[in-house]
Amino acid sequence: MRVLGIEGTAWCASAALYDAETDTVLIESDPYEPDSGGIHPREAAEHMSEAIPAVVDRVLTAAEERHGPDAVDAVAFSRGPGLGPCLRIVGTAARSLAGTLGVPLVGVNHMVAHLEIGRHRSGFDNPVCLNASGANAHLLGYHDGRYRVLGETMDAGVGNAIDKFTRHVGWSHPGGPKVEAAAAEFATAASGAGSEGEKAGSEEEGPESTPGADLLDLPYVVKGMDFSFSGISSAANDAADEGVPVEEICFSLQEHVFAMLTEVSERALSLTGADELVLGGGVAQNDRLREMLAAMCEARGAAFHAPEPRFLRDNAGMIAVLGAKMAAAGDTVAVAESAVDPNFRPDQVPVTWRTGESV
Ligand code: ATP
Repeated sequence: MRVLGIEGTAWCASAALYDAETDTVLIESDPYEPDSGGIHPREAAEHMSEAIPAVVDRVLTAAEERHGPDAVDAVAFSRGPGLGPCLRIVGTAARSLAGTLGVPLVGVNHMVAHLEIGRHRSGFDNPVCLNASGANAHLLGYHDGRYRVLGETMDAGVGNAIDKFTRHVGWSHPGGPKVEAAAAEFATAASGAGSEGEKAGSEEEGPESTPGADLLDLPYVVKGMDFSFSGISSAANDAADEGVPVEEICFSLQEHVFAMLTEVSERALSLTGADELVLGGGVAQNDRLREMLAAMCEARGAAFHAPEPRFLRDNAGMIAVLGAKMAAAGDTVAVAESAVDPNFRPDQVPVTWRTGESV
């Protein structure tokens, strides 16, 4: 089976072809990059309307060159969650393509796709999944036909919380990679200072991974397996206003936010008895987050997997892969029933594809 996937929930206009027989994925993406500030829904939708036809065309052309006119067996699209104006453009494109190609339509939940791509790439059977993306942050575990939300942010998504700080200090969107770079710079400098201290016979010790680095006192809010980021974004902004060096804030912001995510992930593994963790979402591209989760999993004898970056940030590859599993399970949708849903939660999705898992 070969599935054309289309993604466009917020910033990334993307199309992909997944070939289940060879387990290969071709992805073509075109990101929306705001001139200033964060993602503006109207501008993002304008980007989708220009970029979706072009990325779809590139993928379809490549597919037809390789496989002839019947290259596509189904069209899968992101049905939500996401920005309504963007989702509507993607939904319209997917419906008309499915009609033109004469193939079934598959409506995919974007957050379940972030999870399933990790399960697919790792070969894990029944992992807990930490989705650390821009607009969302939650832990999912499978039980009785659904992915259950074991814990989630009580306010902002993790990437949005980081981006809120970077907007405050005037950095362009997306802020996450810039925070990662600045935090690494601070850690390297602090670690150099730490080793000089050691050479000079200092007995003081900093955090294990970064000798010499002290953490700023920022809000750390975890309640069971839920967590909150709004306080830490505001505190980071205040620290910048008070003149604390921005690299130092980036370092502490990352350490706090990722420690919160690591703590709740460990609690979810412990509660469910699972011994596998997969990571998904754009923030999962961060080396420090992966390092902390990998260390936690190693300490408790659990396996850990984060897919390669092209499958972590928003991408149509994950939509096509889950679309293929759903299509193989007969989980397609009639055009009349295929309305998008900006608030589509992962636990609303009946998991139809895990019983007979072959595509
Ligand atoms: P969702 O998948 O919830 O709809 P989204 O549409 O914002 O979220 P993603 O691609 O999952 O898209 O995530 C984008 C977020 O990832 C942005 O907030 C960005 O700052 C963040 N991000 C990207 N790279 C890194 C990084 N290296 N470190 C931290 N955050 C990062």
